[in-house]
Amino acid sequence: MTGTATFDQLRLDGVGRSFGGHDALRDLDLSVRAGEFIALLGPSGCGKSTALNCLAGLLPLTAGSIWQDDRRIDTLPPERRGFGMVFQNYALFPHLTVRGNIAFGLQMRRLPKAEIAQRTADAIKLVQLEEHAGKLPGQLSGGQQQRVAIARAVVLEPSLVLMDEPLSNLDAKLRLEMRTEIRRLHQSLGLTTVYVTHDQEEALSMADRLVVLRKGQVQQIGTPEELHTRPANWHVADFMGFRNLLQLTVAEEGRQVVVEGNGVRLAATAMTPVRQGDQVVAAVRPEDLVIAGPAQDGNVLRAEVEVVEYQGRELAVEAITEHGLRLHIRTPDRVAAGDAVSVSVAPDRLLVFDRGDEALPA
Ligand code: ATP
Repeated sequence: MTGTATFDQLRLDGVGRSFGGHDALRDLDLSVRAGEFIALLGPSGCGKSTALNCLAGLLPLTAGSIWQDDRRIDTLPPERRGFGMVFQNYALFPHLTVRGNIAFGLQMRRLPKAEIAQRTADAIKLVQLEEHAGKLPGQLSGGQQQRVAIARAVVLEPSLVLMDEPLSNLDAKLRLEMRTEIRRLHQSLGLTTVYVTHDQEEALSMADRLVVLRKGQVQQIGTPEELHTRPANWHVADFMGFRNLLQLTVAEEGRQVVVEGNGVRLAATAMTPVRQGDQVVAAVRPEDLVIAGPAQDGNVLRAEVEVVEYQGRELAVEAITEHGLRLHIRTPDRVAAGDAVSVSVAPDRLLVFDRGDEALPA
């Protein structure tokens, strides 16, 4: 199989979909280059599946258009778009063998028998199911069934593969294995892939670029590194593992800001324009809070350890400051509940965002 990318670019232009006046997806602009792996990421109900179904042609748009190079495709029915789909529930034919399931789409296309046999065998080999080719889906593990579903999609050499939470029914270990597997397939076939997940770690580890959605709206589009280091707002930061979100006030403005409140005063980095007196959200990752570290520009919080969870080489610690700020800390240091600790944070790791008009999660 060659993995035929039949376009240079897929473009979504102001794509929207509403249900009875409610916007499930609003104004999505996105260009996907041939060979790219894009993850649509966001919490439940943010519009990921709606976006994917619009792309697939399973759901008509209520706004915008979709283009493959210069050809408008959102008016085409699903079967004329030539996309492959992989769903979380596999949707295999239970009465057909692995080989039968994978060959099915080729048979529907009435290809010559020898070609069907060859392409099916290649696809079976690709997903390493040679030993299981004669089995029925019911005789396979979840991971093997998901491999059949993937092989069934890629055997048709689609120009684009759409995957909707394909790993969510698998246990943790298999999920990790299949991540690598899908990435390997993507690389070896050069498949253009749009992949829906609510799991940020999965998205970060697999995708070339991520689209973070929230309430039907794009929050940020970027590479894993961009999202990890420069989230566009505190919602993205929250989703990207900045577990500490502190509601504070700007005491001194500038790119290096000073924020204060709840008995703390900290130097931090402004990620959005903020002014003195603004209510802001200061975000920091658990691993960037350093217990008993050297005081960095006096950037220290004093807290008492409440909960300690053993997580391999590190501890996940929850500590609370005198004024009731709860801190999530990851540390290799051995501390115990009840310990008084100094927690330091480097100003370039404490990111300050305009709060917007939404309250912080409790
Ligand atoms: P999940 O991860 O839970 O699947 P999602 O991010 O894929 O969520 P969507 O399924 O795209 O979210 O749904 C986005 C919004 O649109 C939700 O508020 C949902 O209730 C609404 N919605 C989706 N499909 C329909 C429908 N057929 N009719 C009415 N509302 C819908």
